[in-house]
Amino acid sequence: MMPLPIKATRPIRRTTIQKKSRYSLYKPELREDFISKCGYCDTPDYYSGGRTGFHIDHFAPKSKFDLLKNEYNNLVYCCPICNLGKSDDWPGDNPNTSFMGDIGYIDPCSEIYNEHLARNQDGTILALTPLGSYIHKRLKLNLRRRQICWLMERMEDQLTRLAKLGGRDDAEIKALCELTIEYFKYAGFLKRE
Ligand SMILES: [Zn+2]
Repeated sequence: MMPLPIKATRPIRRTTIQKKSRYSLYKPELREDFISKCGYCDTPDYYSGGRTGFHIDHFAPKSKFDLLKNEYNNLVYCCPICNLGKSDDWPGDNPNTSFMGDIGYIDPCSEIYNEHLARNQDGTILALTPLGSYIHKRLKLNLRRRQICWLMERMEDQLTRLAKLGGRDDAEIKALCELTIEYFKYAGFLKRE
């Protein structure tokens, strides 16, 4: 079967965000623009402690490009694993050149992000190109938790749809659907905002 895009929806940074004095103040806007998911691996933030548990990555690292430290356009809402994996790695001295040959990174808001990484039907993340392999290795995209989170999301979607469909007549199916809805109500409490 054909692989799926690593990200179903491409995040888009708004260009209307008012300038702020510290990058950490952009977190609410970033979270909205990145649809509450890691820009790199697409894992929803509630699996990593929600908004407070998620990090802000400087796409062009702030350790090398101090002037971009508070530039909204240079920020990526991401999970701690991706942020730590990328760290201050960068392929050269130019903040506008994010990759050189097979080494470097692609901005998750870029249209070509999905050309380098994809997702197998079983939820594992797959590199499509040598540059994709570099990113895959640095960000540890092979970690099982990415796959498990993705599969859980998909199962939840399917179960929610199934539960809504109903079992209008059969008492056992109806009970199963009600139990499923109840389960997700409590699972929802454990997912951190
Ligand atoms: Zn991530």
